[in-house]
Amino acid sequence: MSLFDLEPMFRVLNELPAAGEAAGGYPGFAARFQEVLEVVARERPDWAERVRKLENLGEPELARLRENGVVGAGSSEDALLEFALWHTLRRYHRSHAEGPLPEGPADAVCPVCGAEADVAYLDEEGFRFAVCRLCDARWPVPRVRCLYCGEEDPKQLEYYPYEEGYRLYRCKGCGRTLPAVDLRETGRLDLPRLRAAAVEMQFLYEAGAVEE
Ligand SMILES: [Zn+2]
Ligand SMILES: [Zn+2]
Repeated sequence: MSLFDLEPMFRVLNELPAAGEAAGGYPGFAARFQEVLEVVARERPDWAERVRKLENLGEPELARLRENGVVGAGSSEDALLEFALWHTLRRYHRSHAEGPLPEGPADAVCPVCGAEADVAYLDEEGFRFAVCRLCDARWPVPRVRCLYCGEEDPKQLEYYPYEEGYRLYRCKGCGRTLPAVDLRETGRLDLPRLRAAAVEMQFLYEAGAVEE
């Protein structure tokens, strides 16, 4: 992965200590948010200016953003704010499940925390699993079905190969994309790397730089 080289940042963010374990809710959210911003500014000096604009956000404002569902909706005008909120929330929601869980309530919905899947993988036997964007829990999903709208016609489900087993699924029905990795080609599941690749694949797809 070389286009943006985001992998080191995803790795450091993933290693930040979990937050609020026993307490429930989001104690110390502003402080945890600041720590995420520090990592982003350190790993991406070219974003430091944009990070500085977010440094004064206090607890009430962050709570409001959290409750308004700014995170993950893809609707925020400030992608960096959304990114930092996402990685702060992840520190409160980490799942401790070792292996994949039983099926979720819906293909795209995490059976642990109810958040949506953001990436997927094919295991050593070619079965597909979705991964929760917030808590990293994993659950089985059909290989030929759109997670988001249920489309099952293979002609409506395309995918764009990227490098080394990475691919971007896309549903022609609803237009949603799903970045994924085939572990038969890459070995063990590496989520920071998959999420870094996901940003690149999405960028290349939107730029029209990939072919089916
Ligand atoms: Zn979850
Ligand atoms: Zn769909």
